Amino acid sequence: MQWVTVNNHKYCRNCAKLPRCLNCGLPGAQNRFADGRHICSQCLATAIIDQVQAEKLFRQVRDDIYAYLNLKTNHPIHFRLIDAAAFMSLAGKHSSSQQGHYEVSERYRTRWGVQSRVAGTYTIYVLSALSPPRFRNTAAHELAHDIGFELFPVVQKLEDVEGFAEYIAAIMNSYWGNDNLNQEKLQNLQKDYANAYEKFLNIGSKDGLKDVMAYMEKQNRAAGGRR
Ligand SMILES: [Zn+2]
Ligand SMILES: [Zn+2]
Repeated sequence: MQWVTVNNHKYCRNCAKLPRCLNCGLPGAQNRFADGRHICSQCLATAIIDQVQAEKLFRQVRDDIYAYLNLKTNHPIHFRLIDAAAFMSLAGKHSSSQQGHYEVSERYRTRWGVQSRVAGTYTIYVLSALSPPRFRNTAAHELAHDIGFELFPVVQKLEDVEGFAEYIAAIMNSYWGNDNLNQEKLQNLQKDYANAYEKFLNIGSKDGLKDVMAYMEKQNRAAGGRR
């Protein structure tokens, strides 16, 4: 008999080929969602699959970020919990490491040569069926994009935009007692995300968030922003 080890669990070759749980990654996940993803019964018990429940948790994450980091925007953010199929048509692709999406559209009006914002639509999408810690991590990441968009609107370099979001999400993960998710950030299969996070860990190595905010401020000014 040949054994296959998955996340420190041993399986025979045939069992190792069974569908894997979207959350814990172990083979033999008994439940299948309409979008084709599988989940084991243990992870299903706590998975965030209900829009109302998800939205409540999302609002709580937003409150926690404000309470703990004093960061918030006044944007009225729409929240949508969507499955992998909807995610694919939304983002054009779906990779296992992408679990959220931030979308903004703003309308401006020019009067007397002055441009002002008249309306904005802000939407955050989170992939359904995540565990509560992963849901929080993703919600914090996308909310950090909203904060970054407000405070540093002209910063567009991917490593700064994503590094900032990962950094904020990581601080919040520690606050919620989910440090293990931050280890995963460094091993993100999307290498540019892992590198961006590592870059921001270095920027914040001495004075934490304060230095990170100063860095983003500087990037924003360098890119022509006025704040
Ligand atoms: Zn599982
Ligand atoms: Zn992002």
